[in-house]
Order: sequence, then C-alpha cells, then structure tokens
Amino acid sequence: MAAHDYDVLVIGAGPAGYVAAIRAAQLGLATACVDSRETLGGTCLNVGCIPSKALLHAAELYGQAASGALTRAGVRFEGLSLDLAAVHQSRIEAIAGLTAGVASLFKKNKVAWLRGQAAFVSEDTVAVEGRQIRARSIIIATGASASPLAGVEVDGERIVDSTGALEFPDVPRHLVVIGGGVIGLELGSAWRRFGAQVTVVEFLDDLLPGMDADIRKEASKMLRKQGLEIRTGVRVVAAESSGGDVRLTLEPAAGGDQTVLVASRVLVAVGRRPNTEGLNLSAAKVACDSAGRIPVDANFRTATPGLYAIGDVISGPMLAHKAEDEGVAVAEIIAGLPGMVNHAVIPSVVYTTPEIAGVGLTEEQAKAQGPVKVGRFPMLANSRAKANKEPDGFVKVIADAASDRVLGVWIIAHPAGTMIAQAAQAMEFGATSEDIAYTCHAHPTHSEAIKEAAMAVRGKALHV
Ligand code: FAD
Ligand code: NAD
Repeated sequence: MAAHDYDVLVIGAGPAGYVAAIRAAQLGLATACVDSRETLGGTCLNVGCIPSKALLHAAELYGQAASGALTRAGVRFEGLSLDLAAVHQSRIEAIAGLTAGVASLFKKNKVAWLRGQAAFVSEDTVAVEGRQIRARSIIIATGASASPLAGVEVDGERIVDSTGALEFPDVPRHLVVIGGGVIGLELGSAWRRFGAQVTVVEFLDDLLPGMDADIRKEASKMLRKQGLEIRTGVRVVAAESSGGDVRLTLEPAAGGDQTVLVASRVLVAVGRRPNTEGLNLSAAKVACDSAGRIPVDANFRTATPGLYAIGDVISGPMLAHKAEDEGVAVAEIIAGLPGMVNHAVIPSVVYTTPEIAGVGLTEEQAKAQGPVKVGRFPMLANSRAKANKEPDGFVKVIADAASDRVLGVWIIAHPAGTMIAQAAQAMEFGATSEDIAYTCHAHPTHSEAIKEAAMAVRGKALHV
C-alpha cells in the first residue's frame, strides 16, 4: 500500500478547516487542505460573516445619514444618495483582502492548498480531481448550506438565499424575508436601512429562537421601531413569480385561512444544513444523524479511527468562532496535545443595530436548573450610550442564587458583540456576579452596563 501523502488532510477551508490546517502545520504535521471554492475562507469569508458585515456597516453609515442622526449630531451635508455599486465594491474588497490573507497564511505555514471537490475512496483516502490522496488523519470541515423551503424555490433572482441577498443590484421595493433568525434579521435590517420596505415572516411566535425570552421581546420591539414589519406565527407555503413580483401564500402556523403577500424580492433564510452530500461518506464508514450532521465524540472523533469532523457539519451552533476553536482543538488532539472547546461558553451575536448578544444559559434554561438571581441594567442609563444617543437595549446577568456564579449574560447594545467577550471570559474563569461588579470598568464605556447589571444581581446598581 502507498505511503501516506500527508499527516493531516482537511476537507473544507472555512473557519473550521483552514484554522485546523494552519494549527496542524504549526505543530509540525505535513498538512493539506482541499476546498472546492476558488478562494479560501469558506462560507464565512466568501458569502457569510464578512460580506454580511461589510453590507451592514455600509447600511449603518447610510442609515445614520438618511435618518437625520448625523445632522442631529452636527454633521451637515447637502444631498444624499446611495451608490450601491460602491457598497458592493467595498464588500468585494473586504472578501478579497481576507481570503488572500488566508492564502498567504497557508503559504507561510506550508499548508498545501488543493483545489477541487473531495470524496472518500476509503477510510484514509480521498479523491480530488482524479487524484487520490492518503492521509494519517482526515478532518471533515465541509460546513453547511442554506436549507431549502418546500414550495419556495430559490431562483437566484427574485427569490434568493443569503448569498443572493448580499448582492441585490438595486434596493428592493418590498423585500419579504422568510425566517426571523439571524440571517433574516441581519440582512433584512441592512436592506431596510438602505430604504427597502421589509417584511419578516416567522413561523414561531417570536424572532430569534434559542435566545433569552426578554431579548427576543426587546429585539422585536426595536426592529419594529426601525420600520421592519414582523409577522410571527405564520409560514409561507408557496411562491409564484409573475411580472417582476412574487406572490407568496401565507398560512397561520396553527392552521387557518391562507393570505397572499406580494414581494418584489424574497430572501429564504430558514436555517442551514450540513454539507455531506457528494463526500461518499459510506466509503469512510461514517453515517450521519437524523439532522444530517456527522456524529463525533468530545475529541471530534467520528466512528472511524483517524477520521475527525468539526464546524457546521457537526452538532452545536453554526458559528465561525465555534468552528475556529474546534479547528485549533482538533489539530492539537491529532498532535497528541489536550485540545478542548468549552461548548457551554460560546457567545452568539446578531449584528443588527444595536447588536444583540448572549453567552451561556437563557433565564428560562437557568431557572429549569435551579434558583437564579437576575440583574438588569438599561442602556438608557449608561452614560456613553446616552452621550451617543443610543437609548435601546439592556444588559441582563443571570447568576446561580446559591453560588452567585454567572450562568448567562444577554445584551442588546450598540457594541454588544464586543461587550459579550468580557462576559464569556468571566464565565470561562468561573466568575461570580460579585467578581464582575467589583472589577473596575473604564468610564465612559458601554461595558459599564455589564458591571451595573452584575451589581443589580444583588440589588445594588448605582445609576438606576
Ligand atoms: P464553511 O465556512 O461552510 O466552510 C466549508 C468549506 O468546505 C466551504 O468552502 C465549502 O465549499 C467546502 N466544501 C464542502 N464540501 C466540500 C467537498 N466535498 N470538497 C471540497 N470542499 C468542500 N457566523 C458567525 O460566527 N458570525 C457571523 O457574523 C456569521 N455571519 C454569517 C452570515 C451569513 C450570510 C451566513 C450564511 C453565515 C454566517 N455565519 C456567521 C456562519 C458561519 O459562516 C459558519 O458558521 C462558518 O462558516 C462555519 O465554518 P465551517 O468551516 O464549518 O464551514
Ligand atoms: P436560524 O435558525 O437562525 O433562523 C431560521 C428561522 O426561520 C427560525 O426562526 C425558524 O423558526 C424560521 N423558519 C423555519 N421555517 C420557516 C418557515 N417555513 N416559515 C417561516 N419561518 C421559518 O437560521 P438562519 O437565519 O438561516 O441562519 C443559519 C445559521 O447561520 C444560524 O444558525 C447561525 O448560527 C448562522 N449565522 C450566524 C450569524 C451570526 O453569528 N451573526 C449570522 C448569520 C448566520
């Protein structure tokens, strides 16, 4: 039998795969990474995190000008127009810079970049573009793709998935977003700021399933205030394109009379499903679970020795930073080191304006485990938010009633995505609410609201 070509072969160059490849190479393992895309970085860099944030940033700037916020702050200008081509160019430049950055990191760390679609030939051998590659360890990091919705076929023009909604050539007259999850709210709110009428149709009773109930309620309120129409408890059962419009047939989730909603464009954002089709996993003796994910143990090992899986293709939140941390851990495990990921402390952020973020348990989950104490602090009372005229949102700290250990932190605030890192770090170190309350926070910062919410856990917030 032929010798191994590599110590480690990674399939997929998203945040899970490219990070695993770099870390494995840094640890002295001969490593290759195969991806079917033209550029490295996977969904996140090419059509996900990065381009969506570039679009959101432009929308935020435009929104500040269009809403009068800049003028009220004393920044006067004459005439305002949107150059959408320049917005798209800026997004494309962000992608190009970051994907090229990963390519140069591969070069620097001597990771071999193989281009093409990979499929298993056996447990330790993968075929790529007619070439067979044998590796001691193989890491599956093939990510996920947009889930289809029965009756609503994505045509890439009027009816799009998230990739199409990043690239609209003009501002939609009426964008209907199917799915009030992270993608729907981020992209829906971006196009709303650019001037589109936006309707979000969500199957469940509230937006953002999985998040803390107070946060979900506040998010709906805040997005409605921004002009998004939000229809919950409704599902779309059919779509028909005609004359440049799309007629959507809606039905109450509980059943009942159908109604029609006419859109100029439709974004289908009803979740993502793992990419395993075409991998010929049966040749590797790997079977997926009922949700299409690859089952792994705590060390990311599949049922087949030498075969690992990480990122969106396994269980857990479909988040780039979770994928990256698993990439580091699996490489360290393969190299014989004790790599690990604390899946209980993975922050999640929705990059609307203001941002919505959380880490750890929701109040509902925490209460199901035992008595808790909860402290809240409104951003309205935070001096920096006040000075910036950013009144929306609050911080909520949930602590165990007996030990005071922090179980969860939830935030709606302009920089919530940045603020949540402090909460994650505190929880990783097993902090109590008292630890946070007695940590000196710089003034004036939005982060002082976390300190105040921690003080409120024992009824001692200062500024409310
Ligand atoms: P991916 O990034 O999907 O990478 C997998 C790669 O494998 C892809 O390049 C794919 O082409 C390749 N591949 C698949 N099958 C094969 C095969 N057989 N052979 C060769 N190559 C293959 N997460 C965040 O944390 N923050 C955000 O702000 C955020 N924003 C997002 C916005 C959007 C619009 C979307 C769609 C997602 C967003 N996500 C965000 C989620 C994030 O992109 C994913 O969680 C992350 O990319 C998962 O990383 P991964 O490496 O597991 O998979
Ligand atoms: P999601 O799971 O966040 O939301 C999908 C929503 O669609 C849910 O609220 C669900 O109830 C609803 N839905 C499902 N079927 C429906 C139907 N028939 N009619 C109406 N509503 C329906 O999924 P997503 O927004 O597509 O995002 C996919 C994944 O990508 C997320 O899990 C997230 O982890 C990741 N992502 C993360 C970020 C971020 O971290 N900022 C940004 C974008 C995407």
